[in-house]
Amino acid sequence: MSIAPHGGKLVNQVLTGRERERALERAGSLKRIVLDSWARSDLELIATGGFSPLTGFLKREDYLGVVNDMRLADGTVWSIPIVLGVSPEEARGLKVGEEVALVNEQGEILGLLYVEDKYEYDKEIEAQLVYRTTDDAHPGVNKLYARGDVLLGGEIELINRTKPEKFPELYLDPADTRRIFKEKGWMRIVAFQTRNPIHRAHEYLQKCALEITDGLFLNPLVGETKKDDIPADIRVKCYRVLLEKYYPKDRTFLAAFPAAMRYAGPREAVFHALVRKNYGATHFIVGRDHAGVGTYYGTYDAQLIFDEFEPGELGITPLFFEHSFFCRACGNMASNKTCPHGQEDHVFLSGTKVRQMLAEGEMPPEEFTRREVAEILVQYYQSKVRGG
Ligand code: ADP
Repeated sequence: MSIAPHGGKLVNQVLTGRERERALERAGSLKRIVLDSWARSDLELIATGGFSPLTGFLKREDYLGVVNDMRLADGTVWSIPIVLGVSPEEARGLKVGEEVALVNEQGEILGLLYVEDKYEYDKEIEAQLVYRTTDDAHPGVNKLYARGDVLLGGEIELINRTKPEKFPELYLDPADTRRIFKEKGWMRIVAFQTRNPIHRAHEYLQKCALEITDGLFLNPLVGETKKDDIPADIRVKCYRVLLEKYYPKDRTFLAAFPAAMRYAGPREAVFHALVRKNYGATHFIVGRDHAGVGTYYGTYDAQLIFDEFEPGELGITPLFFEHSFFCRACGNMASNKTCPHGQEDHVFLSGTKVRQMLAEGEMPPEEFTRREVAEILVQYYQSKVRGG
């Protein structure tokens, strides 16, 4: 028996066959809304069931419930608003009840939206409640402030999928991963989210979790991230070499998570967990400052937020981990829960320090990153330096 999707049913809004052809024909004569890469990834994740139980972009009542109480209007837990913003001029030209075509920047048809609602919203309130800050230097808040001032809510249907340019084989839908886990006979599946290369601390968390589950679902986010994050194709190289050399093949499974990164810390941790449940995971790793950025969130805020729900409401079980590091005195990876030694024995490198080392062609210590991963990263940073 696999875990139930959030809300009970795996959503499928992907049109096929005759239905798709008819929709495509209709779409040609409809008004158009151009989706950016963020909205495109939301559209696909709704359609393929990654965002179950959502069947479209949030309507007003759901939006307010999500922003204020982390719940849809029917009470189902949902922590991040999935919305489509347009300009007031664009909104004025659209009527509630109208069907519109969703297109990409080249004008190609992607899907349909049934405009069931259009409404204004307060960006500062959303910023404060979802991101816990109104600072526009926060990358998620910055995106929110740039979003259209009117939101369109309503059901969507997907007509054409965007072909991934890189590593298409890693793009699997929730229905696919669910089937694969079943074939593997895994009952307890732990999912891991990351937007980074896998360092030793990540590996430690994953392997601890794997000790008490049947399989590790490595599900790196490959949608839009901020500019100074390492690009997904470089990270995928790192994941592959690491899996090849250091992970048991029959207990590890890698697939891409095509969502955009919100950097919403605690709220995004809940969202990440629910979405991985849709992909079939039963457990979800939450370490230190999950989905955080800068100093906006406390180290364990993304764990504490889970206390706000009854376990049954989420369905998936979060596995919490302390800040982990290599301890030279212990001779292994540890955390303050398991290591009695002082900081002088702990290998700790800040993100800034690591970037600096890599840019100068210097390999971070093996205790921080496996050599094979460090080599890929040094090469990437060096090519960036050379390319200006
Ligand atoms: P994200 O921003 O997607 O959370 P990271 O790659 O920073 O990306 O983290 C992935 C996961 O690993 C998160 O759950 C995070 O809390 C956890 N994590 C990262 N580094 C550490 C560490 N040194 N100790 C404990 N947990 C960590």
